[in-house]
Amino acid sequence: MKPTLYVAMVDDWELRGNGSGDPREMQFAPMRKLVRIYGEEGIRSTFMVEVMQQLTFRKFQDKHPELGQLADEWDEIVLETYSKGHDVQLHIHSQWYGAYFENGRWILPGHWQITRYDESISRQMLVAGRDYLQGLLRRINPEYRCVAYRAGAWCLAPSEYMIRLLSEIGIELDISMAAGLRFRTRHVELDYTNCEESFLPFFPAMNDARRVADQPGSLVCVPTNVFTGGIFNATRWRVRNQILRRFRPKNSVSAPADCQNGEKGREQTGDWDDVSRQSLKGRVIDTVKRLCNTHFVSDIAQLDYALLTQMMERNRERARSAGVTELPLVLENHTKDILTFEHIARFAHDLGAADDVRTVTLSELPALLRAGKFAVRSGHGLRYISEPQIA
Ligand SMILES: [Zn+2]
Repeated sequence: MKPTLYVAMVDDWELRGNGSGDPREMQFAPMRKLVRIYGEEGIRSTFMVEVMQQLTFRKFQDKHPELGQLADEWDEIVLETYSKGHDVQLHIHSQWYGAYFENGRWILPGHWQITRYDESISRQMLVAGRDYLQGLLRRINPEYRCVAYRAGAWCLAPSEYMIRLLSEIGIELDISMAAGLRFRTRHVELDYTNCEESFLPFFPAMNDARRVADQPGSLVCVPTNVFTGGIFNATRWRVRNQILRRFRPKNSVSAPADCQNGEKGREQTGDWDDVSRQSLKGRVIDTVKRLCNTHFVSDIAQLDYALLTQMMERNRERARSAGVTELPLVLENHTKDILTFEHIARFAHDLGAADDVRTVTLSELPALLRAGKFAVRSGHGLRYISEPQIA
């Protein structure tokens, strides 16, 4: 039987990791364009809006009215997008903690990994973000709840407190895990190369979401989708991106979609460069590995149409071999990284037309999970959960 894929088109909506960039150019305009493309295909997506940035703009708005103007426009477009049926959920970049505005630019002294902060400070950031979104969106929907989270720079695990903390503040769904990712940069040390579950929803172990919990909990991780592309498509993609980025280098700012550490020089700031000390031989081996790597995060901003098509085929095969008939699939996007909308528009059209695809928002997923729609993995195998098992 052909599995049905419940595709959540998710978008991390933010400025560059170092606080640079023009929100109008990098966030507002491409968000409107995406919403138009999705609207034409009947797709409702979820924008993971980075709220620390917005809170910091608000903090400095009295001293710098131009920041207040941008913060107002941020609110307006988020409300406009939500009112068109798209979802808005929580994304936090903790490097904005303690940020200040000096000589027309942001200085971000905070840690990029939220898990490096004491629990009380992390709680403060998460609660402030949740409350800001709920305060804003309840203006048009009093029932709105912030239930889904993605960590900035994917930094969720390991952590002694993060899963418990997210549950305590009402988060029911986390999408921060992307199996195979590994970063050793000056800001982020992260290793998701040994995740126990890379495809199906799972209950995360309390102190390390790379592991599956023995028992069900109140929070479910739905991994951000990853897949292995063919070497031909991957190589062609690398060449294409190199050319495109030469013309639009300022947009190349996120963690790269190919899962091992970033290719040097793919972004201007050096924030994603590998900084691990290695011998010359080690560096050569790493470079060869990177060039041969065909393992990708399903990030639609960075992939081209051929890889996007291959991604869906791989997921269909994988769902069949996992023996599930219905499966949630979280696809990533970074508005600020979009190189061309043409491929996204073609892909969105395919999704809209596919008879085995339904698009869902992240707000809808917890209810579907509670209704026993999807198999969720715990240490005791797959189970279809019912109301009492998930808060
Ligand atoms: Zn982000």
